Amino acid sequence: MVSPGQLYLLAVTVMALVALAAAAPVLLGIAREGRERLRRGGPDLPAEPDESGESADSSDHCCRHCGAENEGEFAYCRECAGPL
Ligand SMILES: [Zn+2]
Repeated sequence: MVSPGQLYLLAVTVMALVALAAAAPVLLGIAREGRERLRRGGPDLPAEPDESGESADSSDHCCRHCGAENEGEFAYCRECAGPL
């Protein structure tokens, strides 16, 4: 005869095994992602921009007031705050 205590222990063990089996792929995926990030060199940073593919018309990104280079998406110069 199985006592209630043993039955409870069996049920808890089965549930723990089922939970572990369900969580194993997720944990393995997290571990794999972490290893890949370490291999890439640290935190999840965006890829470095390719300097070789610089566009020819860089005049659009240069401030016409002070000549400072600005990113294409900005509307105002980061040096003199003039409109680009
Ligand atoms: Zn400027």
